[in-house]
Amino acid sequence: MKYKILVIEDNEQNRYLLTYLLEAHGYEVVSAVDGYEGIALARSLQPALILLDIQLPGMDGYLVAQKLKTVPALADVPIVAVTSHAMVGDRERVMAAGCKGYIEKPINPDTFLAEIESHLPSYTAPIGGVL
Ligand code: MN
Repeated sequence: MKYKILVIEDNEQNRYLLTYLLEAHGYEVVSAVDGYEGIALARSLQPALILLDIQLPGMDGYLVAQKLKTVPALADVPIVAVTSHAMVGDRERVMAAGCKGYIEKPINPDTFLAEIESHLPSYTAPIGGVL
């Protein structure tokens, strides 16, 4: 099962790192450089999960999350925020905007995948279908 993940991140290096880590673990990655492009791609691609940078130009991640949550087809798509803010109240603010998870930068590759996987349905091999 190959899940499609949408990465919304304006920083090229971070976008590269997130894409690299996800693709190395078998995910299909589509990326957007800002919230406008991200919302458009989310609508057209219906990803399994959205990884959302909070510090974005134009429309910040809080607003992007709120807007994504107003799209009925995307209501059940988990959003995981990625932020370099490490201040008290940030997690609460991210969750209030509709995100299901919260990852702090710098990304820790060891815990990053576990956080992503905790928000995706786990893959179960079909009964009798394994050779
Ligand atoms: Mn950013």
